[in-house]
Amino acid sequence: VGREDAEYLLSLIRTIPGFPNENVLFRDFMPALADPRGLGILLKALQLALPVQRQDFDSVAGLEARGFLFGPALAASLGKGFIAMRKTGKLPPETISEEYTLEYGQESVEVETNAISSGERVLIVDDLIATGGSASAAAHLVEKCGGTVAGFSFVMELEGLDGRASLGTYPASALVTMP
Ligand code: AMP
Repeated sequence: VGREDAEYLLSLIRTIPGFPNENVLFRDFMPALADPRGLGILLKALQLALPVQRQDFDSVAGLEARGFLFGPALAASLGKGFIAMRKTGKLPPETISEEYTLEYGQESVEVETNAISSGERVLIVDDLIATGGSASAAAHLVEKCGGTVAGFSFVMELEGLDGRASLGTYPASALVTMP
């Protein structure tokens, strides 16, 4: 997208200091989704910034909850299907799950057992990468299901947390980098 569009999109990302707890600079892009021009730019930018060629992946997987906001729209615009990676207990059996450690406690993500076929190349999308814990759990889950991680697509990347390092050698792209 052009500079003017990029600036417009950036102007729709809100920063809330101290939410959900102290010391967090919460990045909120809901205003960009609510704005017709902003939403169009966001989807276009994600398409243009794909970390791999369109023909090099088969499907798009999104992480609950904010990966669900634009993952299906991105997938549809690329002629792909969407796989929902949910928090534990939301999907009917059979599921495959992956646990990961957060700053406080354990979290886990799961997919339906047959959601990913053997050898399927999956692009993982989420709104934001901080430590990379959620994204790398999603990658492990794809592999547990017999799929291959094609890459990662994020709207935002937080700097200084080394999130990318936890993604190994998989290609990843983010539209904006913020402190
Ligand atoms: P992480 O697993 O540490 O990479 O954290 C990424 C997940 O936590 C994403 O799904 C984000 O939605 C959320 N998240 C982490 N930090 C922030 C932040 N500063 N602002 C908004 N969301 C965040």
